[in-house]
Formats: sequence, structure tokens, C-alpha cells
Amino acid sequence: MAELRHQGKVAVITGATEGIGYAIAERLGKEGAKVVISSRKQKNVDQAVNNLRSQGIEVLGRICHVGKREHREAVIEDAVSNYGGIDILVSNAAVNPIYGRMLKVTTEGVWDKIFDVNVKASFFLIKSALPYMKNRSGASITLISSISGYSPDNLFGVYCVSKTAMLGLAKNLALELAKYGIRVNCLSPGLIKTQLSKQCLRTIAIPNISFIFRYGLPEDCGKIVSFLASKDAAFITGESIVASGGQVSRL
Ligand code: NAP
Repeated sequence: MAELRHQGKVAVITGATEGIGYAIAERLGKEGAKVVISSRKQKNVDQAVNNLRSQGIEVLGRICHVGKREHREAVIEDAVSNYGGIDILVSNAAVNPIYGRMLKVTTEGVWDKIFDVNVKASFFLIKSALPYMKNRSGASITLISSISGYSPDNLFGVYCVSKTAMLGLAKNLALELAKYGIRVNCLSPGLIKTQLSKQCLRTIAIPNISFIFRYGLPEDCGKIVSFLASKDAAFITGESIVASGGQVSRL
């Protein structure tokens, strides 16, 4: 039986109908949090809500494309009107519309999309949630960065740059939000077995990049975010925990 260390807390997780976001919602929910999940497609939201409810988790779900201001604000409003506030916010949704070397990118639209969804939307989501997090004891925010934010590669350069930006966003927000008692950290996963990484899984041999001879699992990420949101992490802010099985993470 899971320890109920998040009992009474409310957690909002974006991009949470599958992969890492879903695993985070599941873990926080199993540890007692009421979870608010979202993603772009209603079908995916319904399915994820059903799966979580079938495990006894208190959950509500709605459509939210994080690139759309009105969607982000609706998620926050839903959390507040149904559960009274927000204790844990996880900005997880991200995109990578292009594979290949960064110099292959010819249109500004690619940069705009990646930075809008991955970085700018995270900032404005947090800004919308702030009024409802400020007076909650032990409130915390986790941004999902990536090992790609540390190590360049030839598969998704612009995405890598956006993930480095997430490290900076966490540090700056940690400074500004400390006075409200809100901690801000990043989780930076290595290669995790999900839909997003399907293409990489086909091309990257894990023994070449990890000391631990396996891919990461979404559950590995859920456990770390749960820790970061817990009292045990009360003195950690502005940091990034890298979960990459040893893949090098030096900026
Ligand atoms: P995933 O398995 O592809 O799942 C993505 C989730 O986000 C789905 O629920 C998807 O549902 C939703 N989503 C996609 N675009 C969205 C948008 N614009 N707005 C809202 N929701 C959206 O991805 P993942 O691998 O779990 O990745 C989650 C996070 O971890 C991302 O920030 C990613 O950069 C990071 N990460 C992943 C890995 C890895 O190896 N997998 C490694 C490092 C970091 P809908 O289709 O219904 O929207």
C-alpha cells in the first residue's frame, strides 16, 4: 500500500493522459493527491480518467492544449473550483515537431512552436496558477526538462535548446517564488520508454548511453516528481534531478 504523503493536496499535471505525465498523475494520486489531468484530445482524457479512477484515485480531466491561453486558464479554474486550490503543479507537456540537425531547420515557425509550447506556455501556466498556490503550505512546481537540455545531439537540436531553457526557467522562478513558500525544480529524464521517444528507441542503443542497462520507465519519473513535491524535498529549489541511468549531464 502506497504511503499517503500527498493526502489532502491538489495536483495539476499537463500532458498527463499517457507517458511520463500519466505516470506522475498516477503516482501522486496513489499517494493521496487529488489530480487534475489534461491533454489535447478528449478521447485520451476520458480513457486516462477512467484508468485512474479504476485505481481509486480522485481525478478530474479536461482538454488542454498548453499552447492555448484559454485552455491553460480553464484547467486552473477547474482545479480551483472543484478542489479549492493547487499544491502541486507539474508542467510536463512538450512538443518536438522536427527530427534532425538544428541547421536543417529553415522556418522560424519551428522555433516559435517549440519555444511557445515547451517554455512560454510553462511560464504562463505557472503565472495563472500562482494566486491559488501562494497560501498553500509546502506548494511546489516541477518542470519537465530533459537530459537533452544538458547534452547536445543531432536528432532534435531546437528541442534540446528549449529543454536547457527550462533549467533557467526553474532557477529564476525558484528565486522569485521563494517568498511565497513555493519551490520550483526540474526533473530531467534520460531516454524513457514512451510514444515521444519511439523514434529514438529505434536508433539509440541503450548500453552506449546508460550505465544501467535499460531504458527509463515513466514510473521512474513519477517517483521523482512525487519526492520533489513532498516535505522530504523541503530544502530543494531551483534544482534539476537528472534521471538518465548515468548518461552524462554536465552543462
Ligand atoms: P508522450 O508519451 O508522447 O505523452 C505526451 C502527453 O502529452 C500525452 O498525454 C499527449 O496527449 C500530451 N500532449 C502532447 N502535446 C500536448 C500539448 N501541446 N498540450 C497538452 N498536452 C499535450 O510524451 P512523454 O515522453 O511522456 O514526454 C513528457 C515530457 O517528458 C515532455 O516534456 C518531454 O519533453 C519530456 N521528456 C521525455 C523523454 C522521453 O524519453 N520520453 C525524455 C526526456 C524528457 P494528447 O495527444 O491527447 O495531447
